[in-house]
Amino acid sequence: MTEREIPVRPAADGRPGAGTQRRAREAQRRRRKRARMLRRCTLLAAGVCLAAVLVISGVRMAAGSVQAAAASGSKTAYAPVEYDVSGYVFNAGDPGLLGVDGSLPLAEDYPVDTAEADDDTGKSLQSEAAAAYRQMAAAAQADGVELMLCSGYRDYAYQQGLFEKRKKKYLAQGLSDEEADARAATIVARPGTSEHATGLAADIVTPDYQNLDTGFADTQAYAWLCRYAPEYGFILRYPQDRQAATGIVYEPWHWRYVGVENAKAITQSGLSLEEFVALHQLGA
Ligand SMILES: [Zn+2]
Repeated sequence: MTEREIPVRPAADGRPGAGTQRRAREAQRRRRKRARMLRRCTLLAAGVCLAAVLVISGVRMAAGSVQAAAASGSKTAYAPVEYDVSGYVFNAGDPGLLGVDGSLPLAEDYPVDTAEADDDTGKSLQSEAAAAYRQMAAAAQADGVELMLCSGYRDYAYQQGLFEKRKKKYLAQGLSDEEADARAATIVARPGTSEHATGLAADIVTPDYQNLDTGFADTQAYAWLCRYAPEYGFILRYPQDRQAATGIVYEPWHWRYVGVENAKAITQSGLSLEEFVALHQLGA
């Protein structure tokens, strides 16, 4: 026997005394109570965890469905396509490639055969490009996408007017003729040097988004153009990932007619128009 153990005093009849039995029963009750409490706490904790998991996953599912609904409601993603360009033949003299060989600036009297391409805006393009644009806009409309040609062919006089207007603004600010001329040239292309002078460049927006800025890249119209424009002979002229090659900042609204075969081959190459032409001229 050690000092710590409580001696069970024998009762008169040799059994443990009544007080001792009561203490033992109470101890047992306390043990049972603790066990019950522990079980309840464990169940409660498990319940809380389960509820939390359900709430979180429920919120996630709800958020996911909201996102999916927003995506399906506002924008359709188009899978990239592979064009078979095995039969493609490069022709440096192709009129669709005008301007890329350094033939810009065009002469003041450079003839461009134009036609109206958009009835709503009244803008024109070179006649073949205009017909292609009309087909493309009709196809987009059939897919629920509204294209708007906000700028097409700009003749020499129009471009000169834009340039002079800008230059006058800088002259009025006190700049010298030379300074005003140089400053204007950073904002407006000099007459004959804009791709719009060829009638092959199309600034395309959509009624819901008419700004000529990179925000156009978030529209359904832009997504549609990226997927289908090559099938109508148009390419994105100044892509975001080709800025070093084109020397022009990303312009998601500026599309260029090059003809269907060229458009598919250029799109398939992933190159800018000038890189594509330079590569084929080197190879020729
Ligand atoms: Zn443009």
